[in-house]
Amino acid sequence: MKKIISVLLAVSIIMSGAAIFASASEVKTECGGNCDICPSIVVPGIGQSNVWALDENGDYLLDDDGDRIGCFPAIFDVASIVPKVILPVLLTLFTQHDMGLSDALCDVVLDAFEVNLCDENGKNTGNIEVERYPYSVAECSDYEKGEIYDNIPLQAYSEIAGEDHLYYYAYNSFANVNETIDGLYDFINMVIEETGHDKVNIVPISMGGSIANGLLDYYPDVMDKLNKVVYIVPALNGSTIVGDLYNKELAFLDKDFLYNGFLETLMDEEDARMIEVIARILPDEVLLGVLNNVADCLIEDVAANITSLWGLCPKEDYPSAAARLLANKPEIKKQTDRYYKAQQNSLKNIQTLVDKGVEVYNIVDYDAPLYQIGTSWNEDNADGVIHLSSTAMGVHSAIVGETLGEDYKQANTSKNCSDPSHNHISPDNVVDASTGLLPDTTFYFDGQNHEKTARNDIIISLATELLATDNIKSVYSTPDYPQFNGARDPRDLKNNLIPAAKAVDASKLNADDAAELAAAIEEAEAFVNGTVCYQGQEEKIEERLKAILVKVGARGADEEEEPSGFFSKMSIWLYDNYGTAGYSEMLPITFTLIFKGIREVLNEYLFNPFKAMF
Ligand SMILES: [Zn+2]
Ligand SMILES: [Zn+2]
Repeated sequence: MKKIISVLLAVSIIMSGAAIFASASEVKTECGGNCDICPSIVVPGIGQSNVWALDENGDYLLDDDGDRIGCFPAIFDVASIVPKVILPVLLTLFTQHDMGLSDALCDVVLDAFEVNLCDENGKNTGNIEVERYPYSVAECSDYEKGEIYDNIPLQAYSEIAGEDHLYYYAYNSFANVNETIDGLYDFINMVIEETGHDKVNIVPISMGGSIANGLLDYYPDVMDKLNKVVYIVPALNGSTIVGDLYNKELAFLDKDFLYNGFLETLMDEEDARMIEVIARILPDEVLLGVLNNVADCLIEDVAANITSLWGLCPKEDYPSAAARLLANKPEIKKQTDRYYKAQQNSLKNIQTLVDKGVEVYNIVDYDAPLYQIGTSWNEDNADGVIHLSSTAMGVHSAIVGETLGEDYKQANTSKNCSDPSHNHISPDNVVDASTGLLPDTTFYFDGQNHEKTARNDIIISLATELLATDNIKSVYSTPDYPQFNGARDPRDLKNNLIPAAKAVDASKLNADDAAELAAAIEEAEAFVNGTVCYQGQEEKIEERLKAILVKVGARGADEEEEPSGFFSKMSIWLYDNYGTAGYSEMLPITFTLIFKGIREVLNEYLFNPFKAMF
């Protein structure tokens, strides 16, 4: 018996030794988990993960160039659209009534979004493959590294921390929100296991903010596994664009806005005006009817089933939208209700993180108007895509183009401000950062557009400092990274303008030009090497460099902006004279105008003088 026990003991010792050996060998980092920098996990934004369409054999669908076909935001195949819509378009034009056009366009929408459709259980039904990286960037192929760094250029972080300390949690933007949240929790545990560190940093970007909401609420134990959270333009309370979509509060369904102004907010003015002029081949009521039907189809048949999109519906908009769209979809409603609770608890859970000693930072953009898709576009300041109180954790601000007013007093409503004498009002008097949840650790970038956030090198270097060093603890740690900073994308300066200026042979210039060239280069280099700027500074510096380059003959003058063209004049003239009427409706209006004109002429020259005679 003793012998058996000792054998068992020996076996168990060997086994446990093997187990220790095995788990030690699973640690993949060079530091073995013993360095000062915790691994960082990027949780990217909407459309920042590759999702590929597959054919019935599970092979990648390829386009005419042999490239894989991405599913975001939809797959529009012009060749298959034209035959579907051509007959209804002609019939509708001929009869000036909706002869099957709405139905045909709904078919087109459903086809285009087929890969992104979800069923009544909120499960994606598309034949697709999500490109995932369940390993560190160190183990990524060159192609994968290229994709990741293109979305978020954290190369400088990798140089400090090592690529084995950087992870990218790819997920399908149009899929099941709760599955994506569960997946992130598993991913964090995997990173802890394979890096040997007991804590990680997470970097929720944009839609990633909604995933992080769920993570903190569904898995409160994760809070003990987090070292730092660096939010970047996070959709913590969705975007009013999505809320307006679900509530069908759409700006383009207002016909005056549709025919005069809406398209200009989305594209080049002349192109927009051209579409406005063409749109009048249908009567306005017919066109609006078609748009209404297509919007219904997009909202009810596509968006209503995509729970990750519900994750972007602001909590104020959710109850009405859910009542409108999910009354007959109990399983989806169960899932979105669950997320809705997490969203309601968002700031409370972030406060718990702070109370537990997790360092939480937030980087946000402001003073870029929201795309004018929803009717609430101008109710809050924004970054073009998300309203500011969502990204900046409940902050109070003036809307784009306005200020808080001369008499405004800082409200100091957050308990996380370490010193009430701080000045948290933005220099342009637009934002009162003392009203956001984290006044001392939220960084604001004036005039910065959401989609270009990753092209602002100051934002990337700030994120790098926050993740890879302990140099910055708050907006007061260093004047290099103040609370309020500016928009920029200095790639043109760095790659083109400064090199062109330096290539000029200054010895051949007159003294004044040589001095101006040197001064302009010096200013530009100080700017690109610095980490503080104000909104509009980049344009000024570029103009100065361009001006001297043009003066010394090293550059052609910029082309003059085209004055507003034919379609702009025509569309505005049509709107002024015919309102929103289609061409077929204009004849009666024209007759009315002519009769009105004739009557006025007759009054002026005939009846009035005639009456005056008596
Ligand atoms: Zn390490
Ligand atoms: Zn403060």
